[in-house]
Amino acid sequence: MVRKKPLRAQAHPPPYDPFIARIIGMPGQPAQCRIQLAEYPSFRQALRARLQARGLHEEHIAAVLHGRLTGVCPICQERLSLEYLEGLCGAGDPAGIPSPRALARFADGRCINAGCPSREILLLWRS
Ligand SMILES: [Zn+2]
Repeated sequence: MVRKKPLRAQAHPPPYDPFIARIIGMPGQPAQCRIQLAEYPSFRQALRARLQARGLHEEHIAAVLHGRLTGVCPICQERLSLEYLEGLCGAGDPAGIPSPRALARFADGRCINAGCPSREILLLWRS
């Protein structure tokens, strides 16, 4: 039985799709992608789904991404580690859980820093 992809996904591929394809296809090459902060949770899900489809188990995914995938605010330059981003998405190590204020701003699609007007995040991949 042939599984069809949803037509909607084909008509409007998320902006991070080429970034995910790039870091999985060429993990030894640095890459970057600027997305809306509000899109980060769906990016995270899409990346994990793609890695799982390649046979990676849940417990190995964090190890593969650790130290390679980070985020930076394009306006205030705040750097967000993968562990912190996991915390913002309600996952990961309890020690990395962000403050309630940071969580509230992230949930609203805004930079975690009070006073920063950014609604975007620059995702960085390094080899
Ligand atoms: Zn910022």
